[in-house]
Amino acid sequence: LVEIENIRKNFGALEVLKGIDLTIEQGEIVTIIGQSGSGKSTLLRCINALEETSGGEIRIGGQRMAMDMPNLREMRQTVGIVFQAFNLFPHMTIERNVTLAPVLTGKITKAEAPALAEEVLSRVGLADKRKAYPGQLSGGQQQRVAIARCLAMRPQLMLFDEVTSALDPQLVGEVLKVMEDMARLGMTMILVTHEMGFARNVANRIVFMHQGRVWEQGPPAELFANPQTPELQAFLAASH
Ligand code: ATP
Ligand code: MG
Repeated sequence: LVEIENIRKNFGALEVLKGIDLTIEQGEIVTIIGQSGSGKSTLLRCINALEETSGGEIRIGGQRMAMDMPNLREMRQTVGIVFQAFNLFPHMTIERNVTLAPVLTGKITKAEAPALAEEVLSRVGLADKRKAYPGQLSGGQQQRVAIARCLAMRPQLMLFDEVTSALDPQLVGEVLKVMEDMARLGMTMILVTHEMGFARNVANRIVFMHQGRVWEQGPPAELFANPQTPELQAFLAASH
């Protein structure tokens, strides 16, 4: 579903991505780990063309994803991205927050909005919060709304960048559970996370990034039990 070929990204003189190659199959759950500054967020942003690449090519479903493509808007709609910050509109109800984009882009009519809100909010366990405002929800609930908002666009691929890092520890589990359910239903997902337990139990593959490169990758059981490079050994030792 996702083909990443020799992606490079510079910020001025700083080379942040130094030739990334990755192929992700339909339904695959890939977790990206690595030190701060290794380029994880930059890679996710390039996959969604939120960031212009300095070289290489990204294809999603065989179609080029790049800032200069005439169909960029439609292409972006096939990829949902969730960040650490939820960015909900505080003055709009939860229902309006999750259905705004599909209505504005003409995917659904206004009349269809309540049913869609019900459907996607049910998937994150928040159907009863349709008429509430973001400020009335906990951080974990707001993050689940942010996920539902992505689902409302019916993405082919979901990207998650440390979506639980800003949450109180007791709220992390409910968000991970929603992501686990999505994985079970076959969603293709690429996540950056420090939740090693989640990575171990849910991911099909772990990608360890180091200094802008894919340093090592493999199935979680193998990678965690048998890290091949000193850099991954050190990273795993430090994250215990
Ligand atoms: P973290 O775990 O801290 O989130 P990361 O692996 O996600 O780190 P990135 O955010 O991708 O790292 O950043 C990689 C490098 O690129 C860092 O050195 C960062 O300072 C730099 N960088 C990221 N965005 C920009 C930008 N817009 N302008 C200049 N430099 C940037
Ligand atoms: Mg980051």
